[in-house]
Amino acid sequence: MSATIKWDRRPYRSPSDFGKRSLPYFLLRRLRWTLGNRSPFFAYVKLTRRCNLDCAYCPWHTGTVNSDPELSSNQWKDIFSDLANRGIRVLVLEGGEPTLRSDLPQLLDHAHSLGLTTVVGTNGTTNPWRIRPTAFTVSVDGPMRIHDSVRGSGNFDRLLANLEQNPGIPVASITVLNRGNYRLIEETLDAVMPLVTVAGFTFQYPYSARDELLLTPQEVRVARQTLLRLKKSRRFRILNANVSLRRDTWTCYPEIAVSVSHLGEISSHCFVGQIETPDCKSCQLGCYRLLSALHSFNFEAWFNLYRHLLRHL
Ligand code: SF4
Ligand code: SF4
Repeated sequence: MSATIKWDRRPYRSPSDFGKRSLPYFLLRRLRWTLGNRSPFFAYVKLTRRCNLDCAYCPWHTGTVNSDPELSSNQWKDIFSDLANRGIRVLVLEGGEPTLRSDLPQLLDHAHSLGLTTVVGTNGTTNPWRIRPTAFTVSVDGPMRIHDSVRGSGNFDRLLANLEQNPGIPVASITVLNRGNYRLIEETLDAVMPLVTVAGFTFQYPYSARDELLLTPQEVRVARQTLLRLKKSRRFRILNANVSLRRDTWTCYPEIAVSVSHLGEISSHCFVGQIETPDCKSCQLGCYRLLSALHSFNFEAWFNLYRHLLRHL
């Protein structure tokens, strides 16, 4: 485990209905941070690197990692218990495709018994509803022609068909913006919005080996202005905070999250650091921007998250 993580020696136990009562939790955390307690409360967990798809830009899933060893159910349960005891409150379980783990229902039961909030990040093409996390995120690359060109023919329809069967679990769509889709934000929202609770957007990270789809800073600005305009129109439920859309630069607080590799290695750097040295100057990762805006106690960021997602948890 990384020695640089400043674990909480007396973790504050958030209420089990974390979503509805998250404002007092964030306020208390911010106060404790000001007083010097820099402990993380969020964990991005790569449960597996296996995936049923082979998306064009994905740095996580390649042919060789499919044969990597995986941790057993008991090993993951021990890691979740350890994280909970050290003050982590939210687990984001991702991959690869985490729903390929047949023990995921048991792992979620264990996490919930520890009082943790769970979010499962899926491509939405397997049947996700057999598992019951607190919330899901699903990847959407754009309208059908774009989504299928990245993920393979038929996968957009498969995703929508699955979303139509949702028994009522909050779902956030996540779209990684790049050259192929940044002009199609409105079309993407029209296609997916009726079936998801809220839509979030992020920008493709410039992983060193995969830069052909990267947006220029000017194109990133155009996409951010489009999102601001659409938020203002109130036609869609958009997760990105205004502060993240208005400003080119931002302060990242990677300390508030740890990342856990598919081999159970816990590190203090953001998940980019699991692959290569993070390039913070070029980074527009929406999830860290949102967490950092919440941590800075930007009221609009918190209120936006609350009204679109947390109140449904
Ligand atoms: S679904 Fe996700 S993990 Fe699987 S190949 Fe596509 S981007 Fe990678
Ligand atoms: S690469 Fe991005 S998410 Fe990672 S520490 Fe830098 S700014 Fe934060």
